[in-house]
Amino acid sequence: MAKLDLGALDQALEAAHQPALAAALVQMTGDLHWLRKEWTPTYTPLSRGETGVPEAEQAKFRAEAKAAILDWFAKGAPPTTTPDPAALRRMMSFVAGADIPENYADFLNDELAIGGQSSKDPQWTTPGLKDAARRMHVLVIGAGMSGLLTGIRLTQAGIDFEIVDKNADVGGTWLENTYPGCRVDSSNHIYSYSFEPNHNWPQHFSTQPVLLDYFRGVANRYDLRKKIRFETSVEEMVWDEGRAVWNVTVNTPAGSEKIVANSVITAVGQLNRPRLPDVKGRERFKGAAFHSAQWAHDVDLTGKRVAVIGTGASAFQFVPEIVGKVASLTVFQRTPPWGFPTAHYHEDVPAGMNWLLEHIPNYDKWYRFFLFWMVTDGLLDGVRADPAWAGDETAVSAANAMFRAMVAEALRMQTEGRPDLVDKVIPTYPIGGKRALLDNGVWIAALKRPNVELVTDAITEITESGIITADGTARDFDVIIYGTGFHASRFLYPMKIKGRGGADLHDTWDGDARAYLGMTTPGFPNLFMIYGPNTNIVVNGSIIFFSECSVRYILGCLKLLAETGANAMEPKAEVHDAFNIQVDAGNRLMAWGAPQVSSWYKNEKGRVSQNWPFALVDYWRATLAPDPQDFVLSKAREMAG
Ligand code: NAP
Repeated sequence: MAKLDLGALDQALEAAHQPALAAALVQMTGDLHWLRKEWTPTYTPLSRGETGVPEAEQAKFRAEAKAAILDWFAKGAPPTTTPDPAALRRMMSFVAGADIPENYADFLNDELAIGGQSSKDPQWTTPGLKDAARRMHVLVIGAGMSGLLTGIRLTQAGIDFEIVDKNADVGGTWLENTYPGCRVDSSNHIYSYSFEPNHNWPQHFSTQPVLLDYFRGVANRYDLRKKIRFETSVEEMVWDEGRAVWNVTVNTPAGSEKIVANSVITAVGQLNRPRLPDVKGRERFKGAAFHSAQWAHDVDLTGKRVAVIGTGASAFQFVPEIVGKVASLTVFQRTPPWGFPTAHYHEDVPAGMNWLLEHIPNYDKWYRFFLFWMVTDGLLDGVRADPAWAGDETAVSAANAMFRAMVAEALRMQTEGRPDLVDKVIPTYPIGGKRALLDNGVWIAALKRPNVELVTDAITEITESGIITADGTARDFDVIIYGTGFHASRFLYPMKIKGRGGADLHDTWDGDARAYLGMTTPGFPNLFMIYGPNTNIVVNGSIIFFSECSVRYILGCLKLLAETGANAMEPKAEVHDAFNIQVDAGNRLMAWGAPQVSSWYKNEKGRVSQNWPFALVDYWRATLAPDPQDFVLSKAREMAG
């Protein structure tokens, strides 16, 4: 047995999330006494997980935990116990600091995966299924987070597949976005695959190079690169009615090629086609100009007069990074962002925490569970609209107004010494209306610097030398940086997709993409989307959780094809339509669905086509397995005839 470093243990106990460690200790000692009333956490929303337990009790916990851990190591690190369902529920409630509702138990249990198994593991075990898997050929489009995940699951199921990606490497959004300060804003210990924990995240919210390394590491560990064709983009896919296959035309560095696939799974993300603003004269600007997702690293910003257009998630991250080197920075803001106070946003994970994740069995699972629970539904009520709300348009319910007051106060405090900024940085739209950001104060600190101007007049024109605003002011710049976001609602753009009867998917959608559970669309058999319409989340969960649920369901669809001997499946139109009616009603009852809010969550028709309005558990349950009754299953015409 490795010698236990007592210094490391003391440091680890200081850094521990005590409720998660208590649950791990239950399994190490087989004793439930760790779930003591006096050690039960009471969390404050938006805190980093401080338990509210008095320091004297925390010290008592550390002392007892130390003795138990030393004893466990002294005994040679024996296997830990697996709690029975009742004990597990108690442990979950303890770590959550709340009674876990009955209908959440199986969902959270599955996410926790204490025994190592989860409903998301493909089970293609029978000889018949194995045989069917070998006969399938699946095309996956995209080698980012969800494409790699799909590759892993298809491999585990024994299904033949290939992945194409337009880029020269894996990583998707984490490969493309290299702007200064780019980092994840879901805690990394949940923004990682449930089955691929990383015990060495350097920060709670790590930077883009670290994320890219993680996804590259996963691609290597699962030997996926041999299945990926890089610099290969899908031009067109046409459904072949006779053979029930997709004929796909791809552009490769060597020219155009054809791929024939039984099924196509798109894993192309929602946010990767940069959107430049439709401003008169944009192309006339003579200085350097680039979009945040296509950062021109060869443009040295040192000593330059720089304009930034947009104040969304990207600008919020890169402005504080570049402000120190430019001569002047002019930020053009149309609408201010909401930022949730998050003091540890840029902080390192303490070394002691990494030690626990690595050495204490199940601590990683329980810590992840705690983080997961904190964003499961915790903030959802604060962004839900109350149809009876009689207040003004700055909120959508009493809870939303309270939430607003709390976050607005945090913003106001940051503007101290600059009263001119207060009205500019506190949004007038309801909190949750647009993507809320994580705020550790660096944004407003940057705006307060003497070389920074925050302009809220609308941009009317871009000229050869700069930008003119509605008040007639012309400002000259050396560089314009567009932090203006993406063509989010153009799902699957610019691929041409022709389904049954030659119907074009984009014509069918007519600017208003819809799908059943975000994944399937009538008339387009065997086309499965990950992160498709209405599967974005705003204040709850991590998108990796969503992708894992979607991939489980899609593999379930492939299994249904294998089990029934059908060659094609598509959702029944009435099922698809009923689902969309339900989703639209749900979104109307959320802050982002409020009529006074405009954002990339709404498409050109004004419908919220991006977001999932319900709880995580609802998506988890809906995607456990496809219901055969929801689908039209058919044989290939040539085979049926
Ligand atoms: P975004 O959130 O869509 O922000 C675009 C910004 O550009 C908005 O402030 C928008 O103002 C502004 N804008 C657009 N046209 C304009 C014009 N003509 N004049 C002035 N301002 C204009 O884009 P993003 O910041 O790239 O972020 C997109 C999404 O990517 C995020 O919401 C998030 O989901 C994801 N993202 C995540 C992270 C992360 O996790 N760390 C980081 C970056 C991005 P309006 O608000 O008025 O439209």
